Amino acid sequence: MGAGVVAMSEEIEGAAEEFERAVSRLRGELRSVAARVSPGVEPRAEERTADRHTAGGAMGKRFSMSLFLAETSYESAVGAAADAFAAAGWRTESRRSFHGHPFLRATREGFEAGVGAAGRTLRISGQTPVVWIHAQWVRPPRAATPETLKPGYRLCAVCEGWGSCRACEGLGFVNSRRCAECGLGMDCPDCRGTGQERVRRVAGGR
Ligand SMILES: [Zn+2]
Ligand SMILES: [Zn+2]
Repeated sequence: MGAGVVAMSEEIEGAAEEFERAVSRLRGELRSVAARVSPGVEPRAEERTADRHTAGGAMGKRFSMSLFLAETSYESAVGAAADAFAAAGWRTESRRSFHGHPFLRATREGFEAGVGAAGRTLRISGQTPVVWIHAQWVRPPRAATPETLKPGYRLCAVCEGWGSCRACEGLGFVNSRRCAECGLGMDCPDCRGTGQERVRRVAGGR
């Protein structure tokens, strides 16, 4: 693995499994809604997993999917869909889109789903909550302190002993963009992560 933003942030125990459970739960429930609406018809499916990164270095995942049922109008399907969602414990409400098209919205425990139609293609879609996989990044400890300096060295004037890049504080990213100062190296470019620099004698000095 390359520069380790992921390695430096802490993996939340059980989070990967929790994400997988959320994915299969959403898949199963949307498919059973589709089966209630059009029994025996295999819908076309689209699935997507998106990563979320926070400025503080946390990383989460959200899974979303859509099922498309051809030759199914909204009017013929919405009743069965609403019943299927309600039976599985979702809260449903009828809405209208910005363009005036009706759709059914369903929510439960951070999961969101919707049923709408474009012409005679019914779309049943949903997304899991964001499941946080890696916790907030924690700044590494100081590389050098006045007590740990080697003889003839002083604290790095740039990072003051932290050893990590002062622009990104060792995270590698600034506002979700690769840090321009360290280029993801994350170490202070001046002292290369040691936090200290050799005391130079200045001309005319002692
Ligand atoms: Zn430094
Ligand atoms: Zn940096």
